[in-house]
Amino acid sequence: MGKKSRRKGYRGEYQLVKRLKAAGLDAKRVPLSGQTEFAKGDVVVEGLVGEVKLRKDGFRQIYKWLENRDILFAKADRKEYLSIMRLETLIKILGGENNAMDEIQVFDGYVRLVRTDGTERQLAEIVRISYGKDENDLTDEDVERLIQLLLRNKHLSPFEFLSMVFKIKAPIFVARQWFRHRTGSYLEKSLRYTIAEPEFYAVNDEMEQYNQKAYEEYLRLIKHIRKEQARAILPMGTYTEFYWKIDLRNLMHFLELRLDKHAQYEIREYAKAIERLFEEKFPVIHKYWKERIV
Ligand SMILES: Cc1cc2nc3c(=O)[nH]c(=O)nc-3n(C[C@H](O)[C@H](O)[C@H](O)COP(=O)(O)OP(=O)(O)OC[C@H]3O[C@@H](n4cnc5c(N)ncnc54)[C@H](O)[C@@H]3O)c2cc1C
Repeated sequence: MGKKSRRKGYRGEYQLVKRLKAAGLDAKRVPLSGQTEFAKGDVVVEGLVGEVKLRKDGFRQIYKWLENRDILFAKADRKEYLSIMRLETLIKILGGENNAMDEIQVFDGYVRLVRTDGTERQLAEIVRISYGKDENDLTDEDVERLIQLLLRNKHLSPFEFLSMVFKIKAPIFVARQWFRHRTGSYLEKSLRYTIAEPEFYAVNDEMEQYNQKAYEEYLRLIKHIRKEQARAILPMGTYTEFYWKIDLRNLMHFLELRLDKHAQYEIREYAKAIERLFEEKFPVIHKYWKERIV
């Protein structure tokens, strides 16, 4: 297979996996180097192993047969029946979309909320200790007023009692800027123990071609030198994955720095995704924090 069609293959598989993941399904592409029991170019969705074939014109008849139909049943003489369906039909059958996670796509990566710890009410209950009051009789209005007061007066330590955990997939150069925020906890996928996936951030074809070339060299190198050393030739735009645990005080600080127009465009896009999930889970805190910073 030529390099051009191999590149086209990578792209097709990534698009497919991206769509399946966005629907909340467990999907992954099997990396070329990890293929043992699977055939080349396989993807696995909810435990089903799939082969991906892309053709410019080759499948037109199949599309015709599927017009206004849900499934095409096909059978060659003495062979078993095959069923071919639209991707969207398969997603429905596998129960996707409804159980989509709190995940926002950013470039070819994502920001996924893993969990939150604490609620706005719990924060208000903790703060009442300052006033020696009974913490169980707070109305919703009391909670909101307290949060507003704390943010207005920059009484920020109570926000350290609430936290969020995210899983993030971002280019290494974005992660590097992110990790400068020392007040979070991080755990990153190791390229000492795993083989890098051919997933890169690129703004044009020229960069994409360079990335693919570097990746092919990397695959060649890991045949005779250690992964932890071969990774030195991988581009800074290689996607990495990491968990990030951060309390709300420092999350707000991160957002103030990384949503700012002086921050690099790419990390700003990730910060926007973090802000959306923060707003969804802690709407009152988000509202008064935003009021304070704009
Ligand atoms: C637009 C932009 C450009 C940047 N350019 C560069 C660059 O060119 N080179 C570079 O190296 N970095 C650069 N940075 C990174 C920057 O210097 C900070 O390291 C990063 O933004 C993390 O900020 P922070 O220290 O406030 O956050 P955190 O590490 O999360 O800390 C949060 C807060 O905790 C307190 N804190 C944490 N650690 C200490 C400590 N040891 N002592 C006292 N107080 C502490 C501080 O109040 C701090 O603000 C840049 C950042 C931005 C936003």
